[in-house]
Amino acid sequence: MAWDFETDPEFQKKLDWADEFVRREVEPLDLAFAEPAAPYDRRNPVYSKITGPLKAEVRQHALWACHLGPELGGPGYGQMKLALLNEILGRSMWAPNIFGCQAPDSGNAEILAHYGTGEQKRTYLQPLLDGEIVSCFSMTEPQGGADPREFRCRAVRDGDSWVIDGEKYFSSHADLAEFLIAMVITNPDVPVHQGASMFLVPRDTPGVNIVRLAGLGHEPLGHGHHAYLRFEHVRVPRENLLGGEGQGFLIAQTRLGGGRIHHAMRTVATVRKALGMMCERALSRRTQGGPLADRQLVQQAIADSFIQLEQLRLLVLYAAWHIDKGHKDAVRTYIAAVKVQSAEVLHDVVRRALHIHGALGCSNEMPLIQMWMTVPVMGIADGPTEVHKVTVAKQVLRQHQPYEGLWPRDFLPERVTEARARFAAQLEGSVENL
Ligand SMILES: Cc1cc2nc3c(=O)[nH]c(=O)nc-3n(C[C@H](O)[C@H](O)[C@H](O)COP(=O)(O)OP(=O)(O)OC[C@H]3O[C@@H](n4cnc5c(N)ncnc54)[C@H](O)[C@@H]3O)c2cc1C
Repeated sequence: MAWDFETDPEFQKKLDWADEFVRREVEPLDLAFAEPAAPYDRRNPVYSKITGPLKAEVRQHALWACHLGPELGGPGYGQMKLALLNEILGRSMWAPNIFGCQAPDSGNAEILAHYGTGEQKRTYLQPLLDGEIVSCFSMTEPQGGADPREFRCRAVRDGDSWVIDGEKYFSSHADLAEFLIAMVITNPDVPVHQGASMFLVPRDTPGVNIVRLAGLGHEPLGHGHHAYLRFEHVRVPRENLLGGEGQGFLIAQTRLGGGRIHHAMRTVATVRKALGMMCERALSRRTQGGPLADRQLVQQAIADSFIQLEQLRLLVLYAAWHIDKGHKDAVRTYIAAVKVQSAEVLHDVVRRALHIHGALGCSNEMPLIQMWMTVPVMGIADGPTEVHKVTVAKQVLRQHQPYEGLWPRDFLPERVTEARARFAAQLEGSVENL
C-alpha cells in the first residue's frame, strides 16, 4: 500500500525528543529574550553561552540543519521529515536558530554552497552553517517591491570588479549580518529573467549604507532590523557574482521556494498552538451557567479551525513530498498554494483564538496579539498572496485546453444525445422510458 500517514518509528523518536526539548529548553528563550531579532544578534554576550550547549544537544540527536544534505553538514532527511520537525519548531521564535535552520540563512547557505568559490565557502558558508554568523538577503526595493521588473539597483562591470549602486528596502538583519546576498540588475536591456544577477556583498564593504532601520508594527519607531539600504558605489570583485551573469532570477526562484515552504511548515505549529489555546479557554471560561465550549458558535469556531489546520498540514506535507520526489511543475504549484493557504489559515485561526479569549486575548498578557502581528507578514513576506494565487492559477490552467465548440464540453443537450446514441442498441424500444 503506497499511501501511508505514519512516521517511521526511528524518526518519531527524534520528533518526540525535539518536542520535549523545545518545550523545556527553547520556548523559555522566547520569553526571556523576546526581541524579534534576538536570535540573529551575535553581539549579545549571553548568546553563545546559552545557545552553545543547546545546539550541541541538537547535533547529538542528528537534528542540526535538517534542511541540508550530508555534504553541507545536515542529515539530509528530505522535506517530509523536515516538515514534521518544523511542526514543532514553529512554536518558538528561537527554535529554528537552535536547530540551525533559520531563514534567511538557510536559503543563503544553499546559494553559497552551489555558487560560492572555495574561499567564499571558507569565509562565509562554514561559519554560517555553524551558526556563528548571520546573513541578509537583499532583494526588495523601495519603489517596486519584490518585482524584479521594477528594480533600479544596478551593477556595472568595471575591470575585475562589479560596482553596485541603488537602494533596497526591508533587507532583514542587514545591520547584524556578516554578508548580504543582493539581487541586482546587470543588464536592463534584456528581459529581467536574463538581466538580474546575485552578488555576495560583505557587510563591511565601503558604500553599503543603512539609511534607516524599520521595525514591525509593535516595535517603537526607530527600532527594528529591517534595513532601508543604499548601495553607493559598492565595489565587489568579479568572483562575488554568484551563479553567472543573468542568473539572479533563476537562483531567486529556487531559493525563495525553500523559504516559503519552511515558513508554511512552521505556520502549522503556530496554528496548532492557537487552536490549543482556543480549546483550553473554551473549556475553562464559564458564561451564562456553562463553559464556552458548550456554545454551538464556539464549537463552530473550533471545528472550522481544526478542519483548516488539518487541510493546511496535509497540503504542506503533500508539497514536501513533491519536492522529495523531484516533481518540478508540481513543486511550483504546491509551494505557491501552501504560501497562500498558510497566510489565510493563520489569519482565521488566530483571529478566532484571540476573539474567544475576549479582553485577555487583546491584552499584552497573552501571546495572541503577537501571533496576530504575524498574520499580515505571512501574506506579504516572500511575495504577496495575490502573486502566488496567480502562479497557482497559471499552473492549473496549463493542464486545461480551450474548447472549440459553440457550447462547453459539458453542455448537457449534446452530452445526453451522445450518451443515448451509445446505448441505442441496448435501449431500443425503451428509450421513451429514459
Ligand atoms: C517581515 C518581513 C521581512 C522581510 N524581509 C525581507 C528581506 O530580508 N529581504 C528582502 O528582499 N525583502 C524582504 N521583505 C520584503 C518582502 O519580500 C516584500 O514586502 C514583498 O515581496 C512585497 O513587496 P512590497 O512590500 O513592496 O509590496 P507591493 O509589491 O507593493 O505589494 C503591495 C500589495 O499590492 C498588491 N499586489 C502586488 N502585486 C500584485 C499582483 N501582481 N497582483 C495583484 N495584486 C498585487 C497586493 O495586495 C500586495 O500585498 C520582508 C517583508 C516583511 C514583511
